[in-house]
Amino acid sequence: MPPRDADFRDELQSWLAEHPPPDIELATTREEAQRLREWQRTLHGGRWIGIHWPVQYGGRGASPAQVAIYNAELARAGAPPVLGRAGVTLVGPTLMTHGTEEQRLRWMRRILAGDDVWCQLFSEPGAGSDLAALSTRADKRGGVYRVNGQKVWSSYATFADLGIALVRTNPDAPPHKGISMLAIPMDAEGVDVRPLRQITGEREFNEVFLDDVEVPVDNLIGPENDGWRVANTTLANERGAAFIWREQVQLEAAIEHLWNTCAGDGRLDDPLVREGLARSRIAVEIFRLHNARTLSRLSRGHDIGPESSLVKLFWAGMSQRLFETATAVSGPRATLAAEDENTGDGKWTRGLLSTRANSIMGGTSEIQRTILAERVLGLPREPR
Ligand SMILES: Cc1cc2nc3c(=O)[nH]c(=O)nc-3n(C[C@H](O)[C@H](O)[C@H](O)COP(=O)(O)OP(=O)(O)OC[C@H]3O[C@@H](n4cnc5c(N)ncnc54)[C@H](O)[C@@H]3O)c2cc1C
Repeated sequence: MPPRDADFRDELQSWLAEHPPPDIELATTREEAQRLREWQRTLHGGRWIGIHWPVQYGGRGASPAQVAIYNAELARAGAPPVLGRAGVTLVGPTLMTHGTEEQRLRWMRRILAGDDVWCQLFSEPGAGSDLAALSTRADKRGGVYRVNGQKVWSSYATFADLGIALVRTNPDAPPHKGISMLAIPMDAEGVDVRPLRQITGEREFNEVFLDDVEVPVDNLIGPENDGWRVANTTLANERGAAFIWREQVQLEAAIEHLWNTCAGDGRLDDPLVREGLARSRIAVEIFRLHNARTLSRLSRGHDIGPESSLVKLFWAGMSQRLFETATAVSGPRATLAAEDENTGDGKWTRGLLSTRANSIMGGTSEIQRTILAERVLGLPREPR
């Protein structure tokens, strides 16, 4: 590690020692959301949020290597994902590329400080993988947009102050041409957020109904009807590697914990258990190497590129198999509650259930395979 990055890591480690993160995994209640908001404020106080943003907008202009160190160190300290992560990872970079200076001044500092939490209002019941099929309408009337439609799977929409929404502003244009991006105030009249219960029992994502919601025209991000191009900036950041570093550290820790528990109670004597754990350990190591390759590409100034689909695809399958193995070797103990302090065995079941989402969110595994086939391997496109 170059001295500059080692200094950076040491500074962060000392700061984390003085500011221990809250012991909370996910916000599903208002109180938990409030605790996460406060943690984000603490991070902001130390300038430890949005570190990849330019200094003029409150970031540190951190390099890809520093972002990797940052995510790994926060994961090691047991820090939860920040409440305003959609704002930090998606909205900020989109505003930097397509927003007006007035919008950057209006929103960017508040995003970092946790004053405004954003959610992403892209997916609809009839538009997920085929996002350009979205049908939520925004009609410009009387100096405002009037928005009507329904969004779904909107993570953290219950706690959000604003949502970046893709809406159709020209229904007569071809699907990709008539879309715009709007910032919708979530407390506006006509916004109805209904939580969806997931198989883990948690309620992280939501349905959002938009009934004649009035949105000021200066909440348009990027040019009208050119929202598809704007959304591609947002989606490129979503596919970016940032979250992967966190996952790597967590999965390494999970395997180590499982290995130690099995070694402690004799389960390691079973060759099938040993084989399952070894396979998982090797998979996590391959994942680490994928991440190292991504980092090296980014450090050489390359874009994240379609190769990121490989990492996403591998991570989705690997994390699912890892929790399947962990649940299998834990046997009946896996049915214990996740909070069981003594063994923690129950967390494998939660992981088994929650990792189902990994091959869906941020682009399904089928879509990642298509991207790899067409854009990395150069295979011919399937006739449509
Ligand atoms: C945990 C989680 C959080 C999420 N958070 C958000 C959020 O905050 N905001 C937001 O807007 N969205 C969010 N999403 C939604 C996510 O982006 C979509 O679920 C995803 O894009 C897939 O769309 P879909 O669910 O409509 O599935 P569909 O697109 O309907 O796909 C259904 C099945 O068909 C397959 N399929 C579809 N098209 C093709 C094709 N061309 N070739 C081969 N197979 C195909 C898919 O792979 C899948 O197996 C979240 C999802 C999850 C799981």
